[in-house]
Amino acid sequence: MGVNMKQVVNSYLKKNRETIYQVGDELFKNPELGFKEEKTGQIICGYLDRLGISYKKHVSVHGVICTLGNGNGYHIGVTADMDALLTGRDGVKMPFHSCGHSIQVAVLLNLISAFHKSRVLEQLPGRVSFLFTPAEEFIDIEERKRMKEKGIIKFYSGKQNMIYEGIFDEVDIVLSCHVMGPDEANPNARFDINSTLSGFILKEAVFKGQAAHAGVIPHLGKNALQAATLSLTALQMLKDTFAPEAGARVYPILKEGGRTPNIICDYAVLETYIRANKEKDLIKINGQLNDAFRYCALALGTTCEINDSNGYLPLNQSKEINEVIYRNMLAICNEKEIIHNVVSGASGDIGDLSFLMPAIQFGFSGISGIVHSAQFEIIDKNHVYINTAIVLAGTILDILSDETLQIKKENFKAKKEFYLKHWLKVEA
Ligand SMILES: [Zn+2]
Ligand SMILES: [Zn+2]
Repeated sequence: MGVNMKQVVNSYLKKNRETIYQVGDELFKNPELGFKEEKTGQIICGYLDRLGISYKKHVSVHGVICTLGNGNGYHIGVTADMDALLTGRDGVKMPFHSCGHSIQVAVLLNLISAFHKSRVLEQLPGRVSFLFTPAEEFIDIEERKRMKEKGIIKFYSGKQNMIYEGIFDEVDIVLSCHVMGPDEANPNARFDINSTLSGFILKEAVFKGQAAHAGVIPHLGKNALQAATLSLTALQMLKDTFAPEAGARVYPILKEGGRTPNIICDYAVLETYIRANKEKDLIKINGQLNDAFRYCALALGTTCEINDSNGYLPLNQSKEINEVIYRNMLAICNEKEIIHNVVSGASGDIGDLSFLMPAIQFGFSGISGIVHSAQFEIIDKNHVYINTAIVLAGTILDILSDETLQIKKENFKAKKEFYLKHWLKVEA
């Protein structure tokens, strides 16, 4: 293949520069929370309409999918998150693209435009689906609970809903990219590859005791706050048993701990995320905490009810795909400008996909300020919108034109059944 094909596609990606900068600006200026990405969906559909490309919209509320290429051959999925975050500015929290998801959307639109206009996919077996996926950030949970009750969504994340609906069943592998924060140790880094994303479980532990007058008959009370604080102490001790490579992070808050000091506290609530780099560690640590909380409650004659909401699974990066990504990064920069294996405590719903099929997510630089902060700013448009698209386009062309790079998913059906039953906790 195809250095030639790559050159053709890259020239379209670059020619589209001004248009894509504008679309990127428009998306950035229209931040919407997860499952509320109506305007974002309209911008995507409007762009595809102008190109004359057909698509499917209202996927998992506001998601959009379009497929290019031909036949039933190898099928590459490329995802872009659509949602923004509530971000603090002058004490007020407003939707803001502080995680850079607007960039991912613009990168995919640039890719679609270049593949469509260059018609290179017509010369290759296989196809590419571009999946604009809503609600990646695990936030706004109260609102999502309401949407769930109304039957608008089934799960809190866009990709989880799409997996459930079978949208990824026919996809062989998934590619994705995400902005990386400026790295003090590597100020010249342009990309990161093979970084981790933690998995997480959101845990609520409700301690119930017996109220009693704290002055007259405290000995007849059963103190739920003490059960919660004993549990916190147990957790601190348990942390000695978390292996460093597990990347465990557990920092609870006390949401309820009594209202009136003249009553022995009969109701206390702890809430925490549990994060770890591998599913097995995540599940093990979660079990350790459940035991500790329950037995600490029992020790003081109280009860502890545990409500776990599974968040996202850890990202399991495909080595084979990352080798192709890496070669394509080298078309943009040199080896020293690519950082490898960054250990991150962040999470993403790409982790769930990576449990089911080969998937990757690489990072690109080009912003200033901290990710998830109000100081987030896009400073290198050429890099975020054009270079990132060049890496993805090159990877897609390499894989579609070389069968040895077309890795297959293994045991997908069994994995999906397991995932639905034990992670999303629904019947398949
Ligand atoms: Zn984020
Ligand atoms: Zn993000």
